[in-house]
Amino acid sequence: MKKDKPNNNLNKDLPIPSYHAMIDHDSKEEFGLKIGIIDADLLSNNSHRFPNLALMKISAYHKYRRSDKVTLLMNYNDIEKYDMVYLSKVFDYTEIPIDIMKYDNLYYGGTGFHYDLMPDLPDFMEHMKPDYILYHSWIGDMMREGAKRKEFEYYLDYSIGFMTRGCFRKCEFCVNKKYDKVQLHSPVKEFLDEDKPYICLLDDNLFGYPKWKDIIEELVTTKKIQSELQLRHKQHWSNKLNTITLKRGNKIKNIIHHTSHYIIDYCNKNKINTLVVGLNKTWKQNCKLNGSATQNFVFIPYDMLIKQLEYKCQDVGVRLIMTEESYTSGTSFLDNETPKKQNYNKSRRVHRGLFKSNNGQLINSDVNGAYQIMKKVFPNAYADGIKGCLTPVIINVVKTTRDIKNGKENFR
Ligand code: SF4
Repeated sequence: MKKDKPNNNLNKDLPIPSYHAMIDHDSKEEFGLKIGIIDADLLSNNSHRFPNLALMKISAYHKYRRSDKVTLLMNYNDIEKYDMVYLSKVFDYTEIPIDIMKYDNLYYGGTGFHYDLMPDLPDFMEHMKPDYILYHSWIGDMMREGAKRKEFEYYLDYSIGFMTRGCFRKCEFCVNKKYDKVQLHSPVKEFLDEDKPYICLLDDNLFGYPKWKDIIEELVTTKKIQSELQLRHKQHWSNKLNTITLKRGNKIKNIIHHTSHYIIDYCNKNKINTLVVGLNKTWKQNCKLNGSATQNFVFIPYDMLIKQLEYKCQDVGVRLIMTEESYTSGTSFLDNETPKKQNYNKSRRVHRGLFKSNNGQLINSDVNGAYQIMKKVFPNAYADGIKGCLTPVIINVVKTTRDIKNGKENFR
């Protein structure tokens, strides 16, 4: 898109947006949408040192509640490539290109537009725990260019939120003049990230809330719990942890690149022209693995894998179809059941990872699920019988020198 000259007088000409479209959207079943997030204050001032809380909540809603693919956009060029793009600015002097407002998929908000007249986020977004990793890719880029971690402390070290909102004083110049009183907004646990050592409250007049002592008590209790954690782990963060985190991120990126490459290569070699991927919008929230397995699963960036599959599929002309995967884990492929509610019976998952068909034949649960996911898109795919596996094969996509020495180059 051609870039227009930024226009500072744009704010007053824009209609006050309504969030009805988003609320309608919440009731829709589509998911896996491409969502773009634009922090206009950040784009206009790259050294901006405070994250946009509303955008982090919007991002969390799309990522964790809907399993959409969220990207923090670092320019205004590709708005039309996304299903929805959210743009926010806090400061009225932040400039944005006037031409972008023509896009129907663009939702804008923030005090930088209409100050106190802007509507609040709908409750289902407002009360999400912020997506504290929204800015991480940008922070990583900045640090690689020489920025210091300290410059991003509000992004990395603080749980941010409002425990109360509003004020009763109605000062003419204040964004809070629309309120009549200070009201309770959210408990600290709603926005607390236990890995962060500090809490940053954005409340404008916390002590104007009649029961402010309760809030202080809640904070003290939270601090005590955090201190216990601190004692247990000795410290919250260190350069060593920083290095480990970066190293882990790079390792995951590498594995995901190899994985997507392997899949595409496999499609190519076997003349497969369509790839079906299942998406479950609550797979991370409902994850019931044991302890650290849950933690590891939740932190795997499936978005990244899907994005890579998307562009690699495009490159080689493979059609990528993403489909919801409801009822696929509790319906039986071997009994030729359609994945729908009437056939759903999860008691046939006799152990984790093992599914028993009605005549007692065993099949790996993931394999059963995968076949059923494919059936969602191609109901008659198995009309001529199947030629495939009932137990999964573990593929080592990242070969280490040790693997090669031990003869485990590809399969293990
Ligand atoms: S928050 Fe401060 S400036 Fe705003 S209305 Fe209250 S007292 Fe006035």
